[in-house]
Amino acid sequence: MDNALRLQYLEAMGIDVWVPRALEPSEQPLSSEDLIDHAESETSASITDCWNELQAEVVNCTKCPLCKTRAQTVFGSGNKQADWMIVGEAPGQHEDEEGLPFVGKAGLLLTEMLRAISLTREEVFITNILKCRPPNNRDPLAGEVESCNDYLLRQLKLIQPKIILAVGRIAAQTLLKTDEPLSRLRGKVHTFNNTPVVVVYHPAYLLRSLPEKRKAWLDLQLAIQTVKECEG
Ligand code: URA
Repeated sequence: MDNALRLQYLEAMGIDVWVPRALEPSEQPLSSEDLIDHAESETSASITDCWNELQAEVVNCTKCPLCKTRAQTVFGSGNKQADWMIVGEAPGQHEDEEGLPFVGKAGLLLTEMLRAISLTREEVFITNILKCRPPNNRDPLAGEVESCNDYLLRQLKLIQPKIILAVGRIAAQTLLKTDEPLSRLRGKVHTFNNTPVVVVYHPAYLLRSLPEKRKAWLDLQLAIQTVKECEG
């Protein structure tokens, strides 16, 4: 006997049968896809909050004396979910004026280097060890690096890139905590907080030393190979 017929019989016998009503759409239990969508949108909202918080902290930073001489901070630019994180030394005059990393002559060459390996500036995330320009582009001081370190670590944690390209001696020595010359650091894969690091000559140096461009090309190839290996 089907349920409808059974109900009719029971009704005729004066027996009330409780039948669950259809749930309103708003009362429908969440499917696992809904739960995953919800968790993902919560996660992406909180990642956006972390970026906004970090950016605001950098803009207002007064942790070291460079805050007194900078025109503005240079947070970094590009894709916040990039596979490639490019880390330079510190903003120069043009970067300080524009608030963006690598926009001077060296920046143009960096853009070309990326283009040579089929990457655009928009696809990668570009930042520096220091977020403020040292006066007269002098090398960063240990205290300045120390003050800025947390910003770089938080950027790295949020982006979770497949590779860090350390651009130039200062970036390489700072990330890898070593005094070794760049000539000994390039050509190898290092790691920083579990992320592979490849070191390349700074484009400002390459502009003065064109024969080293070949080595920079080899280092970019090494970086591509490293990303491929980590993609499996
Ligand atoms: N050199 C760097 O290391 N970073 C910049 O942003 C510009 C020049």
